[in-house]
Amino acid sequence: MFTVGLCEDDHELRDIVRAGLEREGYTVQSTATGTEAAVTFSRVPPDVLILDIGLPDSDGRDVCQALRAQGVDVPVIFLTARDAVIDRLSGFHAGADDYLTKPFALAELVARVAALARRAAAAAGSPGADGSSTVVLDPATHAIRAAGVDVPLTPTEFRLLAELAAKRDTVVRRSALIGAGWPQGTIVSDNTVDAYISRIRTKLREAGREERIENLRGVGYVLR
Ligand code: CA
Repeated sequence: MFTVGLCEDDHELRDIVRAGLEREGYTVQSTATGTEAAVTFSRVPPDVLILDIGLPDSDGRDVCQALRAQGVDVPVIFLTARDAVIDRLSGFHAGADDYLTKPFALAELVARVAALARRAAAAAGSPGADGSSTVVLDPATHAIRAAGVDVPLTPTEFRLLAELAAKRDTVVRRSALIGAGWPQGTIVSDNTVDAYISRIRTKLREAGREERIENLRGVGYVLR
């Protein structure tokens, strides 16, 4: 089940968005304040988060940063005022993945959520195909299956490892990896990719897996 977290203080807009997403079969957890969102979505992270920037008690970007600091790295779609160009840029800086300016077409928002859901489903489905010959990822729990306790991955770590596992022994270019791990148009620095790969390596070791991820400088990564 693909769940969407929504934080929007305008109750009419919140209800419209919620109804629109539920009509498409998504489970929606909605909140009206930044404080509520930070608590609710750090406890149970949704698969994608829609955050209004102009909240009564805080700024959606701060909510995003607070969640990121707690390890919640789900894709975020920010909702911003039409003329807030600077807001958009600083939104990305805060770790946002996408944004929509108000007023927006509901269909556009639904389409973006659907794109994220498809990407998550594709990533979850790809590595299981060749069974135990490669690292086994559990799409239901976003975990590396290990003999003892499963080692959990964040959604982004999961998508990255799934991409590498699906193309095992083949070099995955950095740009392709970014395309698999983050929504289209997201600005992702080399350092960020390196940091994710480093964490995935640690988790592979924790899971007792033999696979290793090699970094071919300037080209990409390969899972062997
Ligand atoms: Ca607002």
